[in-house]
Amino acid sequence: MATEDILYDVIVVGAGIEGSSTAYQLAKRGQSTLLLEQFPLPHSRGSSHGQTRITRRAYPQAIYSAMMKQSFEGWNILEEESGEKLFKNCGSLYVSPPSILEPVETGLKVNKAPYRSLTLEELKSEFPHITVPDDYVGLYDYQGGILYADKSLRAFQEQFKKYGGTLRDGERVDDVIPGEIVTLTTTTGNQYRGRNIVLALGPYTNYLLAKTGLQLPLKVVRISVLYWKEKVAGMHAADKFPCFFDPIGSEGTPIYGLPSDEYPGLVKMCLHHGPVVDPHKREDVDASWVRERMMKYIGKTFTWLDPVPAIEESCIYTNSPDTHLFLDRHPQYENIIIAAGFSGHGFKLAPLVGQILSDLVQAKTPAYDMKWFKISRFDKGGENLSSKL
Ligand SMILES: Cc1cc2nc3c(=O)[nH]c(=O)nc-3n(C[C@H](O)[C@H](O)[C@H](O)COP(=O)(O)OP(=O)(O)OC[C@H]3O[C@@H](n4cnc5c(N)ncnc54)[C@H](O)[C@@H]3O)c2cc1C
Repeated sequence: MATEDILYDVIVVGAGIEGSSTAYQLAKRGQSTLLLEQFPLPHSRGSSHGQTRITRRAYPQAIYSAMMKQSFEGWNILEEESGEKLFKNCGSLYVSPPSILEPVETGLKVNKAPYRSLTLEELKSEFPHITVPDDYVGLYDYQGGILYADKSLRAFQEQFKKYGGTLRDGERVDDVIPGEIVTLTTTTGNQYRGRNIVLALGPYTNYLLAKTGLQLPLKVVRISVLYWKEKVAGMHAADKFPCFFDPIGSEGTPIYGLPSDEYPGLVKMCLHHGPVVDPHKREDVDASWVRERMMKYIGKTFTWLDPVPAIEESCIYTNSPDTHLFLDRHPQYENIIIAAGFSGHGFKLAPLVGQILSDLVQAKTPAYDMKWFKISRFDKGGENLSSKL
């Protein structure tokens, strides 16, 4: 067993988008930082792989619309520092009955984010791609668009190293010994010591947390990432069709999509739900019902797409009971900080998550009310945000 002589200010465990963003932010703030990842990088066994994610200001909870302002600034900084194009601004479109859009519009209004409301007639004439029920209207978020996921992950990790951080992949942390100095042991037999630890473990969170006597109420679900072929080539390209969100699309479950961009001629449309899985065996589950529900929805709503998926990939959500994040200190060990439960909407927030977690490490007060993201919010008498996305 090898114990490093180095005592790190911070060790971040998990090099998904949240851990990589946090490690980058800490190194940029001059903290000596080690980032540990269990799998050789890049890998597709977590939640941050793949080419694209949606970003938007539009959220039913105004706090996220506010947070996304700062997160967008963080993405711009990362683009400038890395010289990589990480974002395409194609807008994002919410469609649903007016009562569901009301809180989304309020959030955009109070946060002064540019948007436009669309009547059913405007929806039909401006977006002939979509056939919606007669009680639907639209909300167009001008700042929405596509984030290039794999490139963003790499950019955080590369910039982290440029700021002097150390990245070790292919080493799983198997044990945590808490204390003023925390000791981590990895599968390669190495031991690392840090004054502070950030655990950003995605779907594997509860496996390592068990070593600290804590379990979070998380549900890991498999998401079928489905791509649908355009009947008219180019009709859904990003200059003609925005990112898309129907919060009650399939029997009350949200459906979201992106324009054809990553695979030419193919539009990504997914159900925001799936079967519960063990993250170590994510293919070991029947997800045929997801595909069937999506085929039904596409056949009805996107009549300019072939209603049989052309490609199916998979990814994983780690859902909290209210679909909001956990960004908090360990209840027993204040120098262990936890980021989990991103519930399928954490990618766009990553630059801000990195700043918030770095604030917690440095005993600074984050700019947002952290009570919504506390582990204790599910305790008796705790308060939580509405669970609508
Ligand atoms: C299909 C799909 C579509 C999505 N679409 C969007 C979207 O449009 N917009 C959006 O904002 N978000 C979206 N999300 C959600 C977003 O991608 C996730 O919230 C985000 O990637 C979570 O990142 P993470 O760092 O928490 O987890 P992960 O990416 O899973 O990273 C955790 C890392 O920790 C490592 N790890 C775990 N345990 C250990 C250990 N013991 N030792 C060392 N390393 C360890 C894992 O290997 C992994 O690399 C989507 C997710 C999916 C699956």
